[in-house]
This record gives sequence, structure tokens and C-alpha cells, in this order.
Amino acid sequence: MTETIHISGLVFEVRRSDLRKTLGLTVDRAGELVAHAPSETSVEELNRWITKKLLWVHRKLSLKDEVAPKVQAPEYVSGEAFCYLGRRFGLKVVAKQEHPLQFDGTRFILRRDARPAEEHFRRWYLLTGTDWLRRRVEQLSLHTARKPERIKVRDLGFRWGSCSQSGVVLFNWKVLQLPVRLVDYIIMHELIHLVEGHHGPAFWNTLGRAMPDWQKRKDALVVQAKDYLVFGLVCPRAPSSGSAPDCQALK
Ligand SMILES: [Zn+2]
Repeated sequence: MTETIHISGLVFEVRRSDLRKTLGLTVDRAGELVAHAPSETSVEELNRWITKKLLWVHRKLSLKDEVAPKVQAPEYVSGEAFCYLGRRFGLKVVAKQEHPLQFDGTRFILRRDARPAEEHFRRWYLLTGTDWLRRRVEQLSLHTARKPERIKVRDLGFRWGSCSQSGVVLFNWKVLQLPVRLVDYIIMHELIHLVEGHHGPAFWNTLGRAMPDWQKRKDALVVQAKDYLVFGLVCPRAPSSGSAPDCQALK
């Protein structure tokens, strides 16, 4: 299980090592934040140390965002849009309705007193998306050597997915906002791990046979979809030109 620390809206993966003597922070090409620490460092100490480095982290991250981010944190107001499998659905906030959050096939309807709204949305994605992911994995595993024993959807922090040697594949609920072709890459990546449990040449070769254009999809995921991973639930940013933004822009 990956250890993570959440500080002011950012997620830091913690990598501990007996060989390390000092604390260190890296921001990789994808904007992934990693705190490197000696094994015995306490969570409190890590928190304090990272908090002092936040300004540096934010500068690094903004340098990486050459273009304005395509997404923003939701405010849960009418007119906002949320993405499900790359399709964009508007939100309407109402005073009364039976359930806190409903989806009628064309839009989300949120009861005004349903707070925290994020929890209701997260639950909706989990409930709706788990069935979809299971069916999709079933289809895609026709092209791979091994089927998962079980599929679970949950919050995996800064990871899209993971799999265990026993054949249990986990997916982050956040993937359900992405276009299907990117979700397919995440699924295929984990399915190949059931046979090749590493990132060596054999892994990428096998992936290439099952999904020849995997590199394009991986690049799109790393460069364009990281905000979903960092912030969880996000809305496509409304363009100043007035035309509706589209989650499918993540290509
Ligand atoms: Zn992997």
C-alpha cells in the first residue's frame, strides 16, 4: 500500500528508505509529488517539513503547467459540469428531492442541503462506475492472458490502479471521470500486470501486443489527466469563449 500525505489540497506519495539520511521532495514530469524520507521519520515530522516546502512545490507545479489547467475544483452550483467516462453532464441544484443526489441520464440533480456534496458524488461514481468497470474489464481481458480474480473500486490516492499477485485488481474511482480510451489504458495496464508484475521490457512488449497505441494513451493520462488524480472530483473549466468545455478534450 502506498503511503500518502495530504497537505493543502496536494497529495504526496511517501517513499521511505533505510538508506536515506535526510528528507527530500521531488516533482516529476507528470507533476507527481514524492517525499523521500528515512524509514523512521514520523508522520508529524514529515507534515511539518513538507508544509515548509509548499511554496517551492507550488512554484514547481505552476512551471509545469505551461497552459492553464483544463479543470477546476467544483463549487456544486447549478450550471457546473461533471464528467462521467468522458461525457459531460450539467448540474442542477434544487431545494427538494427524495435523494441527496440523482442522475436522470442527462444531468445531475443535487439537493441543496446534501453536504458535503463531494461525498454524494463520490458515492455515485463508485456505485455507477463499479458495474461499468467490471464489464469493461471482462471485455478487455479477452485480449490478455489472465483474468482478475476480483475487481474493486476505491480511493487509491495518487494511483490510478493497482493489482496483487493473488489477482485482485483495484481501480481508483477517479478514473471514472476520464474518457473511455484512457480508462481502457489503465485497465489494460493492470491486466498485463497480472502476468508481468513489473515495468520491465516484457511488460511493455506484452502491453504493446494487446494495445498497440498504449504510448499515446499513457502520455495523455500522465500529462492531461493528473488534475483528476490530485484533486479527485473536478469540473471541466468553462472557457471564456462561451462554448461548452468537453471532457473528451483529454485526448
Ligand atoms: Zn504498472
